Amino acid sequence: MKLKFEEMYNALLNKDSSYEGSFFAGIKTTGIFCRPTCTARKPKKENVEFFHTSKEAVLHGYRPCKVCHPLEHLGFTPEYIKIILKKLEKNPDEKLKDSDLNELNIEPNKVRRWFKKNLDITFHEYQRMLKINSALHQISGGEKIIDSAFDSGYNSLSGFSHAFKNATGSTPSDSAEINIINIMRFTTLLGPMTACATEKGIYLLEFSDRKNLNDELEYLKKTLHAKIIFGQNQYLDMLKEQIAEYFSGTRKIFDLPLHTPGTDFQNLVWKKLIDIPYGEHRSYKDQALAINKPKAVRAVGKANGSNRIAIIIPCHRIIGESGKLTGYAGGLWRKQWLLDFERKNSSL
Ligand SMILES: [Zn+2]
Repeated sequence: MKLKFEEMYNALLNKDSSYEGSFFAGIKTTGIFCRPTCTARKPKKENVEFFHTSKEAVLHGYRPCKVCHPLEHLGFTPEYIKIILKKLEKNPDEKLKDSDLNELNIEPNKVRRWFKKNLDITFHEYQRMLKINSALHQISGGEKIIDSAFDSGYNSLSGFSHAFKNATGSTPSDSAEINIINIMRFTTLLGPMTACATEKGIYLLEFSDRKNLNDELEYLKKTLHAKIIFGQNQYLDMLKEQIAEYFSGTRKIFDLPLHTPGTDFQNLVWKKLIDIPYGEHRSYKDQALAINKPKAVRAVGKANGSNRIAIIIPCHRIIGESGKLTGYAGGLWRKQWLLDFERKNSSL
């Protein structure tokens, strides 16, 4: 049985221990998630969202609270897991490798099993999400970022440290005129996605593990002279619904206002992508011909790769002339999945 929002919110206010384990509360303003009984200050209603599992909270961009330790099950979390959670809590950027665990006299396989069993996520995925979540919060919250944070950790997510260094210089917090970009994270069959919108429409939809995601966020921030904050937005609600319909196979065409700041050429290429019907694919050469620039095959490929609105602007429908998949920022396995899914679905 699903709990109602009101009931969970009241349980949260009352620190009702009978609800332990049945829900987790994500606090939008801090990017932290808590147990019902957390003793930290309780959030306003509009700043909470609830999850039934800690895995969902992590996948939606939240980090575990340092006060109530929501990943520790009451009473029976092994000491070695507590040590690891505490270490990662202190420094989400640190990657704990097998050698680090061995040094702590902790058996790496035991750790992997615990994460898989209790969080239904691999230890590697957990660390990766934690890193992304804390980075996303910093970049969207406009927090001052200390240089030492760049010392380690972000290497595997290329572009992060670069984007952050720029972020400190470009946060438009001292300006009177600031636009707001709302950011939302949600999960799909193919993993967590990140979406951005303003009151004008959709600006970004990407798989959250996309390498240049933070560069894209920075670009939007600068171009729109805006601040990125977690929050509700009518277009994000519509997007979430339409993407769910897409993944259930009932939606083939999207109906959302899209905004794609970029060069004229890029916009020409992106517009042509939308013309490729669901279930079909084209080559870069086809697309170059379609915009009457038969020689611009490479440039078309490049513009294709800089698309910020995945799935809806279907850059996944472009493959190499030989039929090879070529690149996809969301990962080739996702591209393959999307093409297979659409092909099967369009013949129904
Ligand atoms: Zn808490």
